[in-house]
Parts: sequence; structure tokens; C-alpha cells
Amino acid sequence: MKPFDVVVVGGGPAGSAAAIGCAQRGLHVALIERHDFPRFRPGESLHPGIEPVLQQLGVAGQLCAQDALRFNGYWVQWNEPLRFNGFGSDDKGPWQGFQIPRETLDTTLLQHAAALGVMVRQPCRALAVLSEKNRVTGVRTDSGPLHAAYVIDASGASAWLHRQLGLTVRRCSPRLIARYGYVRGCPLAYQHAPHLSAGPAGWTWIARVQAQLTHWTHLAFEAPNLGHPTVPEPLQHLPTQGAIHGADVTWRISTAAAGGGYFVVGDAASQLDPASSHGVLKALMTGMQAAQAVYDCLGQPSVQTSAQRQYKQWLGDWFEKDMAQLRRFYRLHPDPPRWLAADD
Ligand SMILES: Cc1cc2nc3c(=O)[nH]c(=O)nc-3n(C[C@H](O)[C@H](O)[C@H](O)COP(=O)(O)OP(=O)(O)OC[C@H]3O[C@@H](n4cnc5c(N)ncnc54)[C@H](O)[C@@H]3O)c2cc1C
Repeated sequence: MKPFDVVVVGGGPAGSAAAIGCAQRGLHVALIERHDFPRFRPGESLHPGIEPVLQQLGVAGQLCAQDALRFNGYWVQWNEPLRFNGFGSDDKGPWQGFQIPRETLDTTLLQHAAALGVMVRQPCRALAVLSEKNRVTGVRTDSGPLHAAYVIDASGASAWLHRQLGLTVRRCSPRLIARYGYVRGCPLAYQHAPHLSAGPAGWTWIARVQAQLTHWTHLAFEAPNLGHPTVPEPLQHLPTQGAIHGADVTWRISTAAAGGGYFVVGDAASQLDPASSHGVLKALMTGMQAAQAVYDCLGQPSVQTSAQRQYKQWLGDWFEKDMAQLRRFYRLHPDPPRWLAADD
């Protein structure tokens, strides 16, 4: 098989955005995703800033439909009485976030990538990295090898390429586990906007994500393995939908998110806990940024080193800014994480 310009590992928002960005620039792209879609993922509450990004990717028309659940901001109960944190407004009215089911978002993006000519293999798992002379040259998958000038790793929190290459990750918090789940229906208080509330040594987020479905996430700042996870008290009278899940949301960033023949995007490259509130936006934008970098490198191989450096710098600056903001916010918590003080 003719080598690809790019092989993307992972069909979440980061991988699809990277594949779409490469295909929009005329590159020959393959994307592999280990699960059949629809597959379950949390992350339905999307910041208003996502709309222009979806437009650039060519899927805003399908995703930002009139009937999508919209919200102007969210309620916060933290170090002071309950207040509404609006997203802002302009002369057209208030900026609005979206509640888009992940199966809809991820399937729409992946189908759009395929429509642009990306060869999508699904289900197909990346097994081992192929490399020559310290340069990544492709991926061995469970349905054979795929050779490419560049590999973009968008494998999410499993950080496939990091494990393959033994790359270093900087951890910026102790191990943090978010517990989350869903209930059917929605109490009146949460109908129009999500709530973020401080509790003993942690916080809880509650958001109505579909007409009759409410999502909750709980994060404990300390000792994540202690205690049996339970549905938050305001939702306990409603029937649960599915199991209670746990996700490792330890703050971390790759110190080698770009190198010879590869770029790493989305949660595989950096991650903060969901209180930072825009994991999906970041996934899309890192995917698009990596697509531009790969295109530049293929057009002009002499820029490779500087393109890798710039990508790492951009990713690192964004992460530091978000982390500083999250730290400031957590310091205001009535029972702030003990590890914050030790860390600063
Ligand atoms: C509890 C919780 C709540 C959240 N809420 C929000 C929210 O409301 N809003 C928001 O913006 N963000 C939220 N996030 C963050 C958001 O879910 C992530 O930032 C986002 O999913 C990252 O996208 P991604 O494409 O990098 O990774 P993923 O969406 O995880 O996609 C990675 C893909 O790679 C595939 N893959 C992995 N390994 C391989 C392999 N070896 N071969 C082939 N394929 C592979 C996986 O199957 C998967 O489909 C939340 C996160 C958590 C844990």
C-alpha cells in the first residue's frame, strides 16, 4: 500500500479534527479507531468558543442545530453565595454553550473526515509504532502496517505513543479520579444551566445534557480511592442510567508532544481535570494545529524542528495558563486541596 502522508491514531474530537485539517489541505490521510461508533465518552457541555472551530472544520451546520440544548453560562456555589457565571454577550445577544451528546459529535466529525477522503479503519487498534533511525514512520495495527510520513497520536488519556516511545510526562497534581454518571430526568433547578458546587474537599458538576438526561461529575481533591461512589444528593431520587464511571484526570502534560515524524494531540498531549471546562475545545484545536504543522513540515522539510518546537511551546503555554487559572479557582474553595499549597 502506498505510504500515507499522515496516520492518525484515535477517532475522538482531537483525531478527527487532525484528520479533517490534513484532508482540507489535500494530504493523504488514514485514521484508525479501536472502537466501533457510537462509543461512550463523557464531555457533552461545550463552551461557546467551539462554534467557530466547528465552522472551520465544516460541521457547524450539522452540530449547532436550533434544537441543540443551549445555555448562557452556569451557576457556581463556591466561596460565596450562589452566583451565575455568564459566558458574556455581544450585540447579537448572550453567548451560548451547547450540550451535544458525544456520540453525535464524534460520529459527525469522523463521518466528515471520511467524506473528505480520509481512509477510516474502524475498529482497528494501533499495536506498535514503526520507526527508522529515530523517526516514527508508521503504525503496526491489528489489520496490518500503515506507513506514513507523520503519525498524529490522538489516543486520549491512554497516551498510546507515549507508552510506545517511553516519552516523559510531567505530572502537576497527585492522582485525581473523577467519578461520573447519568440519571434520567432533571430536577427543575438544573433545567436551564449547569451547576458547579463546592463540597467537602471537592466539587460536583451537574448538567442537563439531553431533554431527559442529567450528567454529574464529582471530583475529590484527596484520597481518590476512598469511599464508595454515590449519585449526588440532589439527583438521588431519579433513576440512574448506566454505571458510575471513574476517569483518571490527573493534571499532566507531555514534555515531548512533537518529535521526529510525530505530533501528539488532545488528552494524549495534556490534560487537566474537567473543572477546566474545555477539554473538547482543546482536543479540536490541538488537532487542527498539528494538521497545520504537519502540512508545513511536508511542504518544507527544513522547518520541521522549528514546527515541532513551536507546537510544544504553544501547547505548554496554553496548559500553564489553564493550570494557573484552575489553581487560583481551587485556592478560593472553602476546603482547598492541601497539595496546592505544597506545590506553589
Ligand atoms: C468526567 C469527565 C467529564 C468531562 N466533561 C467535559 C465537558 O463537559 N466538556 C468538555 O469540553 N470536556 C469534558 N471532558 C474532557 C473531554 O472528555 C476530553 O478532553 C476529550 O474527550 C478529549 O478528546 P480526545 O480526542 O483527545 O480523546 P478521546 O475522546 O478519549 O478519544 C481518543 C480515541 O482514541 C481511541 N484509541 C485509544 N487508543 C487507541 C489505539 N491503540 N488504537 C486505536 N484507537 C485508539 C479511543 O478509542 C478513543 O476513541 C470531561 C472529561 C471527563 C473525564
